[in-house]
Amino acid sequence: MTEILIVEDETVIRELLSDNLEFEGFSTYQAADLAMADQLLSEISPSLILLDLNLPDGNGADRLKTWRSNGLQTPVIICTVRDREIDIIKALDAGADDYVTKPFRIRELIARIKAVIRRSEHKPGGDKLQIGQIAVNFSARTVASPDSQISLTATEWQILEYLAENRNQVLSRDQIIERIWGINDLEDSRAVDVHIGRLRKKIEADNRPSTLLTVRGFGYTLKL
Ligand code: CA
Repeated sequence: MTEILIVEDETVIRELLSDNLEFEGFSTYQAADLAMADQLLSEISPSLILLDLNLPDGNGADRLKTWRSNGLQTPVIICTVRDREIDIIKALDAGADDYVTKPFRIRELIARIKAVIRRSEHKPGGDKLQIGQIAVNFSARTVASPDSQISLTATEWQILEYLAENRNQVLSRDQIIERIWGINDLEDSRAVDVHIGRLRKKIEADNRPSTLLTVRGFGYTLKL
């Protein structure tokens, strides 16, 4: 059964989420704070984490950054009342795969959960890619520079794979949204830009991109 860890301090919201997700056939774990989330993550490997930002013992995005730097690859959806762009970008930048703002529609949340899990389970073909000094192996899901392993989120893998399949062609933001998120109006182009920016930081050797290029006003291309 697909297990979801809900990290949310408001009991009513946490239980509402849990009830709805279990009704949809998921099995859920509940954490009321980050300490409890850490404890549970040492014991279980959920398929996805729903993570609140404002928690009694800290900020969800900050803790997510720590989890990612410790190698946690579990997909994460941020659930937050904050809808300020800076908070959303900070959360995506910390390694979130997606976000929803409260009050959220439960159907939309479930659609996003399913999409993120589908992306994380998607196994691409045994293709390899060399980007400068960076070696990408899609089947082994590894990205390595000469001196270190680089960790990509599920969403970054999907975007990189889509760009690699269409190398040297320009993909519009809408094409990327449709391929990655499936439903056009569930995502906006700003989020695509954040994911691409984060991916670029990981796979480009320096600050002047030579491979993952922006085509101004249109989209992106992987020039190989
Ligand atoms: Ca909260």
